[in-house]
Amino acid sequence: MRISVVGTGYVGLVSGVCLASLGHDVICVDKKTEIVNKINNFISPIFEPKLEEMLEKVIKLKKLHATTDISWAVKNSEITIIAVGTPFKDGAIDLSYIKESAKEIGMQLAGKNEYHVVCVKSTVVPGTTDTIVRTAIEEASGKKIGGFGLAMNPEFLREGCAVDDFMMPDRIVIGAFDDQSFHVMAKVYNTVFDDPIIRTNLRTAEMIKYTSNALLANLISFSNDISNICESIGGIDAIEVFKGLIQDKRIVVKTKGEAVFPGLTQYLKPGCGFGGSCFPKDVKALVTHSTAHAYYPKILEAVLAINEQQPSKMVEKLEKLIGDVQNKKIAVLGVAFKPETDDIRESPAIKIIKILLEKGATVFACDPKAINSAAKELESEFLVLTNDYQEVLKDAEGVLLITPWESFIRIKPEEFSRLMKKPVIVDGRRVYDKLEMESHGLIYTGIGI
Ligand code: NAD
Repeated sequence: MRISVVGTGYVGLVSGVCLASLGHDVICVDKKTEIVNKINNFISPIFEPKLEEMLEKVIKLKKLHATTDISWAVKNSEITIIAVGTPFKDGAIDLSYIKESAKEIGMQLAGKNEYHVVCVKSTVVPGTTDTIVRTAIEEASGKKIGGFGLAMNPEFLREGCAVDDFMMPDRIVIGAFDDQSFHVMAKVYNTVFDDPIIRTNLRTAEMIKYTSNALLANLISFSNDISNICESIGGIDAIEVFKGLIQDKRIVVKTKGEAVFPGLTQYLKPGCGFGGSCFPKDVKALVTHSTAHAYYPKILEAVLAINEQQPSKMVEKLEKLIGDVQNKKIAVLGVAFKPETDDIRESPAIKIIKILLEKGATVFACDPKAINSAAKELESEFLVLTNDYQEVLKDAEGVLLITPWESFIRIKPEEFSRLMKKPVIVDGRRVYDKLEMESHGLIYTGIGI
């Protein structure tokens, strides 16, 4: 099928490249010329495992092309997928990019006779596609809905494994305005995937996406709430509590003596909080949107409040062990909001680094992929950003583990002891073994102890 994708960020580019590799003819549209030029020169503007190799392949096969020209893209496709950003701004979701792209697509549809489906893939609050998007297209095209198709196909990919998630989806949800829109969208997927498609109306599809992210954010904040209770009481390690919890036969599945833990249990772990471009903004957007519809969601408000306090707990724990951080070299391992991505949006590391700098510390932070993005967000003569963890650890008086990249998990206790001035570790993801660290003379603490 001929598909155009508007917005070529994490979701748009991954979707475009994967759809092209599945055999569709894809045109990626972005308003930023530098992004378009990079793509057409086989360079991925974002880091995502496997993406750049696949990008080069589909461009060479002439299955994908990038452009800033939305008019050409819409005219030469039968479906346009909207994948622009929906940031949280001034207390609510900012739908201006959605409105703008819907209007631009509508303007192109005015002169097009062929039936065309517009599909929203961005995460938008329930009610957006059938009101704001529909109206913008109708007004700009002069056509009534039905003369064009409208669908909402939420994206569930996770940064860091986005290509695999797209190519092996756990579910495909298509909210459709009518049968014709649904059948066109279903054809994009059911020619390649066996999984059943979940068909809903437009609002339900939008709500499924928010509910998924709200549940995962809930589990993380629930874990941190329990961890904080353990810490307050003392003498309890939250890690052991969760190990005991997940043995519940309503959680674990045991077959022939083998235990299978559902993926959700990965979220039942103490940590320094969730970040990224989705969980924080989506939970906030749902709270605001719901409140505007006269229901105040108390649990979700608490999920956000707990998450807000977690980064500062890391610094408090460090100060308990080494005193005031002023004029001390502090090492930070990890800047990206999670491993295998260069995305630093809402990363707990950014908040932690800012707190440390405000307190007068000299911060050396390390990340394998996110240093360039971090340099745009953080600027201080007391901050060094590098991808060399040894430089970061050397002579440091304390280290905070924030992002559990494999290369950080593999650092041996001997290496911490050898390089650091004072081998004090605050483990924000509970990746190190406390007893092993202590047996090598390290002073170890973490979230949940
Ligand atoms: P992003 O910021 O990485 O990319 C958005 C892109 O859209 C940018 O390159 C921007 O230049 C472009 N753009 C904006 N307006 C445009 C216009 N009118 N015409 C052409 N291009 C335009 O965003 P993202 O992380 O890919 O997220 C996109 C949407 O998908 C959001 O709603 C997000 O919540 C949702 N989502 C993101 C993820 C994720 O892991 N990042 C996962 C699922 C869903």
